Amino acid sequence: MEEMIIDRLRAIVGPSNVTTEYEDLLCYAYDATFRESLPAVVVKPRSTEEISLIMRLANEYKIPVVPRGAGTGLSGGSVPLKGGICLVLTRLNRILSIDKENRVAVVEPGVITDDFHAVTEQMGLFYPPDPASGKTSTMGGNIAECAGGARGVKYGVTKDYVLGLEVVLPQGDVITVGNPIDGETGDYDYPLLFTGSEGTLGIITKIMVRLIPLPPYKETVLAIYDQLEAAGETVSTMIKQGVIPTTLEIADHATINAVENYLAIGLPTDAQAFLLIEVDGIKDEVVRQIAIVEETCRRFGAVSIKVARTKEEIDKLWLARRSISGACGKISPTKISEDATVPRSKIPEMIKKVREIAEKYGIKMVIFGHAGDGNLHPNVLTDKRNKEEMARVEEAVAELFQATVEMGGTLSGEHGIGYMKAPFLKWETGETGYQVMKAIKKQLDPHNILNPGKMFTD
Ligand SMILES: Cc1cc2nc3c(=O)[nH]c(=O)nc-3n(C[C@H](O)[C@H](O)[C@H](O)COP(=O)(O)OP(=O)(O)OC[C@H]3O[C@@H](n4cnc5c(N)ncnc54)[C@H](O)[C@@H]3O)c2cc1C
Repeated sequence: MEEMIIDRLRAIVGPSNVTTEYEDLLCYAYDATFRESLPAVVVKPRSTEEISLIMRLANEYKIPVVPRGAGTGLSGGSVPLKGGICLVLTRLNRILSIDKENRVAVVEPGVITDDFHAVTEQMGLFYPPDPASGKTSTMGGNIAECAGGARGVKYGVTKDYVLGLEVVLPQGDVITVGNPIDGETGDYDYPLLFTGSEGTLGIITKIMVRLIPLPPYKETVLAIYDQLEAAGETVSTMIKQGVIPTTLEIADHATINAVENYLAIGLPTDAQAFLLIEVDGIKDEVVRQIAIVEETCRRFGAVSIKVARTKEEIDKLWLARRSISGACGKISPTKISEDATVPRSKIPEMIKKVREIAEKYGIKMVIFGHAGDGNLHPNVLTDKRNKEEMARVEEAVAELFQATVEMGGTLSGEHGIGYMKAPFLKWETGETGYQVMKAIKKQLDPHNILNPGKMFTD
């Protein structure tokens, strides 16, 4: 990149917030996927005005800009495939207001998700979206990916809480969309358009979210199975019976063993699956629903059902769940985390399909995830240096996506499309849907400078 452009970037954000040092660039060349690509420059703005100026400059010289939160994305959204400017948003990290009376919060995009949870919960309020990466991920990244989480089965995902956004458009204009009123507005539903747009339509600089009252009571159950399919049947049946658990997480045998080897917290290593189930709400109703949960687990052959009694027990179970990704990373150097999601009634069929595909292509695939949402997170454990195996993995993933679409599911329950699933997006949208998306992108970003190579293939 020309020195003159770097100098103009320095003039906008201050010299200490621009870097072109190779060692620094390396730190922004990757996310939680397996591809790396260096940006030409890393820029860390502090305000909407600075971002607007950066976008005007980038448009003038047709420089790609890749917005970046914490870089925990699992579809490659913040990898600077075409070099250019890596726009790091972590300095915009203030919680601007929490209106307890109207239950609305306004935050900047660099606020860490779990920090926001902690602050709202201290006030008796609740922001349900809870990606397992919440200790690191940013609110901006969550909005851009429409993040989900374990609590999605009862409370929905990020889009269900976004009321309004301030967005810097690709050409530098600033727009505020939505409002703090929880209802219909006269215009198009723009917050929904930008939520999940993966940094391709604009840079989110302020976020207005809906909060709800913190549930007063919850119970957590761990059910152990000697058959994965039985755990899957339990999930489908429980939902059919009208139980609305807060979380309904599944893990298979290989996952349980990976976590136990990693944490040594006493998980049963001979188990074929576990379900981690939480129910929250008013105490009497929770107790009633937990009884149905226990009965359903028993009916489908759970060999052990334990209700966690203390905070320590509950924390231990959630530590196990949240450590799964890291634990699997210890088995193989490359972990490809898919989030193909099917209707809940298709979970048993999907479990069977994942196993068939893994066997057919001779690859290692584990299952863990938000089963209550139909999101089984089939994770491929491989090594990207093994080209022959990677070719088989690619075919296996394509077959998994095909099966997902045939079952009426989606390629992405929560991780987004990024570069990883871009070649398959049309399978889900159809040609017309795809062209409508492209038309919106072209209208807002005529020079295709904002996060090129993501969602759409070139
Ligand atoms: C261990 C682990 C567990 C995970 N668990 C979950 C889970 O349970 N649920 C889930 O949904 N995801 C999960 N993820 C995926 C990831 O954490 C989420 O997608 C998260 O929302 C990304 O946030 P981030 O700040 O890291 O964003 P990044 O990875 O930096 O960016 C993600 C995308 O958002 C864009 N972006 C970032 N900030 C902005 C902004 N301000 N304006 C416009 N675009 C922006 C980027 O360009 C990119 O396309 C997990 C990841 C890991 C590594």
